[in-house]
Amino acid sequence: MTQTLLVLGSANADLVVEVGRRPGGGETVLGGDTVVLPGGKGANTAVAAARVGASVALVGALGDDGYGSLLRESLESSGVDTALVKTSARPTGIAYITVTPDGENSIVVSPGANSDVAPSDVDGLAFEGARVLTCSLEVPLETVVHAIGAASQAGVRTVLNLSPVADLPAETLRQLTVLVVNEHEAAQLARDWTGLLALGPASAVVTLGSRGVAVVERSGVVEVPAVEVAEVVDTTGAGDAFAGALSARLADGDDLVRAAEYAVKVAALSVTKAGAQPSYPTAEEIG
Ligand code: ADP
Repeated sequence: MTQTLLVLGSANADLVVEVGRRPGGGETVLGGDTVVLPGGKGANTAVAAARVGASVALVGALGDDGYGSLLRESLESSGVDTALVKTSARPTGIAYITVTPDGENSIVVSPGANSDVAPSDVDGLAFEGARVLTCSLEVPLETVVHAIGAASQAGVRTVLNLSPVADLPAETLRQLTVLVVNEHEAAQLARDWTGLLALGPASAVVTLGSRGVAVVERSGVVEVPAVEVAEVVDTTGAGDAFAGALSARLADGDDLVRAAEYAVKVAALSVTKAGAQPSYPTAEEIG
C-alpha cells in the first residue's frame, strides 16, 4: 500500500427522481426520469481527495451488479485506488432520493454491501506509508471503531466525519486527530465548540454551511470564512468534498488551519455544480 490517505466508508448509487409532490401511504405518483449518480459518503470523500491530487485508497464494499460497476468506474476514473473495495454477495448500496419542486430531498438508504465492511477488512491493512485515515459512518460502527484504533496504534492520524451522530466509545474519541461535524451535529454533541475537545479528539472542525468552518484546537478557535459563490446550484456532498480535501491536505503535511482554508475553496466550487462526485473540482481549478 503506497497511498498516503486511506478512506473507510460507504459507496452508494444515488437514484434521483423529481416528483411534483411526495406520495402518501398506498398512493402512486409519477415522477421524472431517474438520474443515477455515484455517491455514498466514503466514495464522495475519496473522490474529492483524489481530484485535488491525493494518493488515496477507499476501503469499502460494492455488490456484483451494474451499480457496483458504475461506482468502481467513477472511483477509478478519479484516480482512487479500489483494490481494497471488496465485492460483496449483497447488492450495492442505494440511496433512493425524491426531490420536490421546493428543492427538498427525501431519502431512503438501502446499505446493502456497505453493511459487509467488517473489522477483518481493516486487519489486512498495512498502514505503512499512510499518513491519514479518514472515516465516515455509513458502514458498521464496529468497523470504524476498529480502524481508528488500528490506525492510531500505527501512528497514522485519524479524521472522523461523525455524520450521522452515533455513540462512539470514549477511547475512540480520544484516538481522533480531527473530529469533523456540521453545526447541527456539533450541537448534539456539546454545548459549545470547545466542548467538542472535552469529548477526546485532539482537534475538531465544525462546518457552518455558507458561513465556512470553525477550526477548534487546544490553542483556540479559528474561523475560516466560506468562499462566496455567484450561484448555489446543489449543496449535496459539500460536507464530503470538504472532508476529502481537508484529508488530502493533511496527508500532504499541511497544518489544520491551512488544510481547512484549502478545503473551503473545494467545497465552495462543489456547490456551484449539480451532484456530489461530478461537482468536485481538480487542484488546477482551485489554483
Ligand atoms: P453538510 O453538507 O455536511 O451539512 P455544510 O452544509 O456545513 O456541511 O457544508 C460543508 C462546507 O461546504 C461548508 O463548511 C462550506 O465550506 C461549504 N459550503 C456549503 N454551502 C456553501 C455555500 N452556499 N457557499 C459556499 N460554500 C459553501
